Amino acid sequence: MLMLTLEIVGAVFVRQLEHQNLTTFKQQVELPTYIDNSLATQLNRNDTKKANRQIRQILAEVNNNNISEIRVVDSKGIIRGTSNSNNQDIIGQRATDSAVKNTLATNRSHSKNVYYQSSHDHYYINVVPLLSPNNTNNVVGAVYLRASLEGVYSSINSISLIYAFAAFITIIFSLGLSILISREITRPIEEMRKQTLRIARGDFSGRVNVTGNDELGQLAGAINNLSVRVEESQELSDAEQRRLHSVLSHMSDGVLATDRRGNITVINETALQLLDIDEADEVIGKPILDVLDLRKDYSIRELVEKDQEQVLLDDNSNKSGLILSAYFSAIQRESGFVSGFVCVLHDVTSQQKEDQERKQFVSNVSHELRTPLTSVKSYVEALSDGAWKDPEIAPKFLKVIQDETERMIRMINDLLSLSRMDSGTAKLNLEYVNINELFNYILNRFDMILKKEKDPKKKKYTIERQITKKDLWVEIDTDKFTQVIDNIMNNAVKYSPDGGVITARLVETHNHVILSISDQGLGIPRKDVSHIFDRFFRVDKARSRKQGGTGLGLAISKEVVNLLGGQIWVDSVEGKGSTFYISLPYMPYDEGDEWDA
Ligand code: ADP
Repeated sequence: MLMLTLEIVGAVFVRQLEHQNLTTFKQQVELPTYIDNSLATQLNRNDTKKANRQIRQILAEVNNNNISEIRVVDSKGIIRGTSNSNNQDIIGQRATDSAVKNTLATNRSHSKNVYYQSSHDHYYINVVPLLSPNNTNNVVGAVYLRASLEGVYSSINSISLIYAFAAFITIIFSLGLSILISREITRPIEEMRKQTLRIARGDFSGRVNVTGNDELGQLAGAINNLSVRVEESQELSDAEQRRLHSVLSHMSDGVLATDRRGNITVINETALQLLDIDEADEVIGKPILDVLDLRKDYSIRELVEKDQEQVLLDDNSNKSGLILSAYFSAIQRESGFVSGFVCVLHDVTSQQKEDQERKQFVSNVSHELRTPLTSVKSYVEALSDGAWKDPEIAPKFLKVIQDETERMIRMINDLLSLSRMDSGTAKLNLEYVNINELFNYILNRFDMILKKEKDPKKKKYTIERQITKKDLWVEIDTDKFTQVIDNIMNNAVKYSPDGGVITARLVETHNHVILSISDQGLGIPRKDVSHIFDRFFRVDKARSRKQGGTGLGLAISKEVVNLLGGQIWVDSVEGKGSTFYISLPYMPYDEGDEWDA
């Protein structure tokens, strides 16, 4: 732009200068009027020779260095004189110059610039008509004037050269200056560009130098401000994320979040455990419906539209074997756009099992009570239909009714004591009892019953004792514990073959006493061992009922032993016999301990 401007200015300037110089030059080379008049006077004379002499003299008097040659031509076009002393021969010859001819023909001045190629010279040629001093309308001849323009052109050239040199220097200088200025402008811009790239990478440590209060300075200040703000909001969002992460990982519920297509994006530690997944990466990006095995029953929209209703994932649908409840909800923006879904998993295995057990229990109780009631009812009906009159049948029927009623009372009593233990209202009368003595006492009772039994049809059995001689003082509720031992002994007798041996053992470990009662009876099938302490569980229902069993004895025993802080378990081989073990916490103490206490 600068160069173009300088070019234009230069061209206009040179042209103007040329025009000005030429005008000045032309004025300088104009002959004064008195010379014109003198020449005209000479041309008007008839004496040509004399006149020519005079003309020569007049021309010699013209003292103008700029003029190269002056010729005087008369009205007929004949050259009458020349200022060029070397060229006097042309006097008398006809002037050939077109300007001279034109001037003579038109009575007007004619001028032109001529370039002589042979001498490489510029000349200014001016032809002025000479008017008769007497009659101004009469042209007596013309003055042909030739002046070299070399001086004018050379001065113009040298001025142009100076101008070109100045322009060149100006351009060089301004180029340098513009490079410097643009560097000065681009340096902070470059710095800002680098800083914004650093911010984009998450590096907020750098600052842009604020050099002034101009637009660039303000922009630099704004970028520094932006960097601080972005860093603050980044820290805020990091802190939020950490908080969310810690909330999620410490939650007792499992949480899964998905994108809007239902592919998992977040899964917390609890959800991984509940679903028995080793690594979050195994499920990230996978459809939640597949991971929870729900695809065949629901679409994600149906799940969300269930609105706070839980979906149960049964133990078959996940590896962990837990029963889980899943709540689905949509993550919705204010505009209503659904950006994803959240699923909260809750372990409801124990609730579900308890629920199941409760239902089972109610159904068992009803069933257990209906059977004796139905038989009582049918015997009563038979009696009222006339059987009471039969002296043989009536007592038998009444005996059945009595037995069944007693069994029902026993069952109700058992249920009541179980219910008291369940609700925590069962009172324990704890006292320190020498378990050795108590165990022997109970076993003696069984021996006594056996001895007193006169009925030869009744089952015979022997009780073998392997009981430590040591006194073992254990804190128990004597009545309830006696009931437990009675129950196990009764079972051992009940399920033993005739003449079988029942072995009762009592040993102590360093902090437990262990009682065990072994029989040589039917044993318990392996698959039933784990259920033996369940309420109403009986291996052979019909047989147990016939023997007056309620199926609650072992369940009560287990509750009592647990209440006393002990444990009960069974070891059994089907067909060979069973051993029931009871362990109770025991603190051995020396004689001296009593005094220390
Ligand atoms: P029940 O009143 O039927 O005896 P229990 O709770 O005392 O109820 O016992 C539950 C079931 O456990 C019994 O029905 C029986 O099938 C089994 N059982 C208990 N003790 C023995 C044992 N010593 N030998 C074999 N089976 C036993």
